[in-house]
Amino acid sequence: MNPGPQAALSAAASPAAAADALPILRVALDTPADDCFDYLATPDVRPGDLVVVPFGRRSVVGVAVECAEDSEVPPDRIRAVAARLDWMPPLDSHWIELAGFAARYYQRRLGEVMLPALPPALREAEGWARLGQRARADEYRLLPQHAADLLAAVPPRARSVRALAQVLADRAAGGQAEPISLFEARELCAAAPARLAEWLEAGWVEARQCDRPLLATAPEQAPSVAPPLHEEQRAAVDAIGSAQGFAPFLLHGVTGSGKTEVYLHAMATVLARDAQAQVLMLVPEINLTPQLQSRIAARFPHLPLAVLHSGLADQERSLQWLAAHRGEARIVLGTRMAVMASLPHLALIVVDEEHDTSYKQQEGLRYSARDLTVWRAKQLEIPVVLGSATPSMETWWRAEQGSYRKLVLRERAQADATLPTVRLIDLNHERQRQRTLFEGLSVPLLDAIDARLSRGEQSLLFLNRRGYAPVIACDSCGWLSGCPRCSAYMVLHRPERRLRCHHCGLEAPVPHHCPDCGNVDIAPLGRGTQRIEEALAARFPQARIARIDADSTRRKGSAQAMFDEVHAGEVDILVGTQMVAKGHDFQRVTLVGIVHPDAAMFSHDFRAAEHLFASLMQVAGRAGRAGLAGEVMIQTRYPDTPALQALVRHDYDGFAASQLRERRQAGLPPFCYQVLVTAEHGQLERALQFLQSARLLADQCRMAPEVQLHDPVPMSMVRIANRERAQMLVEATSRPALQRFIGEWVQTFAEVGTQVKGVRWQLEIDPLRI
Ligand code: ADP
Ligand code: ZN
Ligand code: ZN
Repeated sequence: MNPGPQAALSAAASPAAAADALPILRVALDTPADDCFDYLATPDVRPGDLVVVPFGRRSVVGVAVECAEDSEVPPDRIRAVAARLDWMPPLDSHWIELAGFAARYYQRRLGEVMLPALPPALREAEGWARLGQRARADEYRLLPQHAADLLAAVPPRARSVRALAQVLADRAAGGQAEPISLFEARELCAAAPARLAEWLEAGWVEARQCDRPLLATAPEQAPSVAPPLHEEQRAAVDAIGSAQGFAPFLLHGVTGSGKTEVYLHAMATVLARDAQAQVLMLVPEINLTPQLQSRIAARFPHLPLAVLHSGLADQERSLQWLAAHRGEARIVLGTRMAVMASLPHLALIVVDEEHDTSYKQQEGLRYSARDLTVWRAKQLEIPVVLGSATPSMETWWRAEQGSYRKLVLRERAQADATLPTVRLIDLNHERQRQRTLFEGLSVPLLDAIDARLSRGEQSLLFLNRRGYAPVIACDSCGWLSGCPRCSAYMVLHRPERRLRCHHCGLEAPVPHHCPDCGNVDIAPLGRGTQRIEEALAARFPQARIARIDADSTRRKGSAQAMFDEVHAGEVDILVGTQMVAKGHDFQRVTLVGIVHPDAAMFSHDFRAAEHLFASLMQVAGRAGRAGLAGEVMIQTRYPDTPALQALVRHDYDGFAASQLRERRQAGLPPFCYQVLVTAEHGQLERALQFLQSARLLADQCRMAPEVQLHDPVPMSMVRIANRERAQMLVEATSRPALQRFIGEWVQTFAEVGTQVKGVRWQLEIDPLRI
């Protein structure tokens, strides 16, 4: 009864388009070889369909991009489309154009963008049938002229079978019979599948396949009541709701100022206007989706909500994607991958925490989901809302110039919530007062935690470094636990008694003595979250302490369980990495301690200050969200750092102004555009040589005077997993000039690649870290 693989793959005739179909089909495949490949079309294929085609000796799934009159492939060599996915509506032209733009902008092949953007079950023909079983259902209709035969054939004592037959007959009585789904039929009669198969055989009923609803709604749930909006929130919602055409907004509001409430109201406005309208909302982290998901579901209980993120099992993600593609999902909540979702009725896009670096994909197609949302909004002529307490300099600059409209929320939304006070603990000063640190924790911070414990409030300690200690060292010869494969140290993980390299994954047992001199006095240097957790347990034995980082939450669902404990008040002190910093609305945290922000201050990266400010502001925002006054303590040896001073004053605007001034003087983004070429090889010399040769070839390309190539240099972290890495930066004051140049230049790379054997190269447009 279910469609077997044959059924799902069959090239069965489709209603539309058969007559005027063109003979050649251009198909995008996931390979760097070319954008599209030509095949002989079957009459039913439409652009946007998924098809199976022969490619070399394999069969692969591709996206039908367009039909054409003829092909450069000789007629005797051109091959035919093997099958098409006939039960899914084709991807629309907007989606194809979006992929086309991303491919051009990020210098990839069309198929390299399209296929990874599809959910796993659709990328392989084997997945189609299984997905079809979940996404499609059989439905049955009694032919009215056979009603008497059917009823006569049912034995009187088979009550449930009779009930089923009666429903079929009743529905058929109207003439145009309304079908019954297999699901409904089963509810009436457990033996429905077997009986229906018999009746089908007898020619009394007809069967056909239909789309099965994929998302549950909870209409019986009373919708959560939206709080009356504050004046600034109201103004923001009105601005978004009344926007015409393409309208990019920056919603700038401190943490807890009610940005989410603005998103929800704006969504409600847009969704109410058009019964098909879809809204896309992006969030940076997977662990933020459950909390927000339930908040959205409670606000819109009758609207189907789809979620898209990498934490979902393949099949589930595919179903959610399909619900968005079919238009069934009215709201789609997802991480960066969701920017490529197919949304035929997209009417509003929201990007929460738009500054977050996780919107930038760091491998494969290195796209910025945030930037793509803006392009998408422009293409569809719809509003896009970028929200943040600490907007990226790029976004802020656009808002300052007026190309994005700025909406501001100045205060915390809840009546009794105020911004926390931020205090810098000067560790030099602590030392002068001869107060030694207790395992990296200063006296004022420990006292503050103590006070929270006695008041039954929660403390959150932030340290962006997991493990026990970042390195172990030998006191007598200076040996350090370096990774043999990387230019990095192996991190001590004490509970597991292992050394681990966080870059290549190498693991080793903890040595009992120094491998160089045999000294047994080797000791951990510095601190990670495990060590802080241990220190707190020693210092506050009565406290309930939880640690949330990538190590403690490896098991699926464990992060959520731990966050639930914190929310339920079962934790007194929470220690964590950036995992705890984002989005969580901890109602009882009144103290945030930032243990060690200093490492970020010595980075070469010109964005280090921006990222430091954003991440500390974010963590600080966890304090004092509901009624209880919040306090933030930042331990530092460099209290004069401008980013820290600005934090004390809660002065994003001032900080941003000074950052932009510096960037303008130095000619850095957003006042220029960058492309980073990286090359890696077993030997650094070879990687550099590749970049040198590529550089020479640049002279043969049209290079506008605005474009500037820097010298190839070793990367600051030069070796990872025995591969040596070098980079070359290209800058330009004009984006089109840069795009034109890069487009030509990268064509020459293949040639350079053959000169330098074994080199791997990467091109990154708008790199975030250089
Ligand atoms: P943000 O997204 O800026 O961090 P939220 O929208 O999550 O802020 O709001 C923070 C808290 O304030 C939430 O608990 C929310 O329910 C509450 N809140 C938001 N807007 C209002 C309002 N207008 N009146 C009362 N409470 C509000
Ligand atoms: Zn030694
Ligand atoms: Zn390593």
